[in-house]
Amino acid sequence: MALKNIMLGIDIGGTNTVFGFVRKSGVVLKEYSIPTQSKKPAKDLIKRIKAEISEFLKQNKKTYKLAGVGIGAPNANYYTGLVENPPNLKWGDVNLVEIVKDILGVPVRITNDANASALGEMLFGAGKGMKDLITITLGTGLGSGIIVDGKLVYGSNGYAGEFGHVCIDFRGRYCPCGKRGCLEGYVSATGIVRTAVELLGKRICPSKLREIPSNHITAKLIYDLALKGDEIALETFDFTSQLLGVSCANVAMITAPEAIIICGGLAQAGDLLLKKTKEYMENHLISNYKNQIKILPSGIKKGNSAVIGAAALAWKEFSNI
Ligand SMILES: [Zn+2]
Repeated sequence: MALKNIMLGIDIGGTNTVFGFVRKSGVVLKEYSIPTQSKKPAKDLIKRIKAEISEFLKQNKKTYKLAGVGIGAPNANYYTGLVENPPNLKWGDVNLVEIVKDILGVPVRITNDANASALGEMLFGAGKGMKDLITITLGTGLGSGIIVDGKLVYGSNGYAGEFGHVCIDFRGRYCPCGKRGCLEGYVSATGIVRTAVELLGKRICPSKLREIPSNHITAKLIYDLALKGDEIALETFDFTSQLLGVSCANVAMITAPEAIIICGGLAQAGDLLLKKTKEYMENHLISNYKNQIKILPSGIKKGNSAVIGAAALAWKEFSNI
């Protein structure tokens, strides 16, 4: 019987690295998580990954063949294979593609985690069957991936799709990137908390949030209070949806996607965020764009999304293997 190809998806984070084998259908066969140990060199991490997966490959050598590896990592460059001075990792500039190829002996591709998510949604998630889509991942920050005509847009430098650092208010909040008014300073878990704290200072209405020290306020807490009708929490989500909706309209009018897919924990905020974002987006679209672009929550199971995204990169690149 012919061996079935599988891809290994690796998602490298500052604290943990998750990886797993993914079949062509998007099914995750086995998933692992190990500490990244960010002070040790990249080679050490890849050797530990090899040690973890060798047992599975040995046991299944009559069924599956590892055909390629896809990696999602911060500051990763698709063109060069380099991970350039990644935040939270003491690696400097390192060619991760070369290292993985040497150690695992199969073809390898790399991109940043937000781009990998976009491919994951197109191949296995809410964007299945679409060729033009944008994904926005809301976490501590805001990551994005743009797909045009079935291809991820990497741009001239390999870093295209930094929607989180598009300016929405040039006199606005300072961003760790050094600029002011970046979208992720508002539309992210961190940004939502900042908005709520600012509103508490501007409004006199009662709010449960007034009883909580500002450094204990979280986006989840604001969400829970908004569901209970807390005015400040509701206004926070309205403001966030407005900025996200206007920004979606702006980017939609550049690439005319079929859908904008919202990933990350906040994607679960349903009507409070997604429905309102859609309304605000529609208000800011010109007539020949109206009522065409969907705003959808991620179609990938939450725990698997990083590994599926990274493996999707390998499936996209090496599908003719
Ligand atoms: Zn920024």
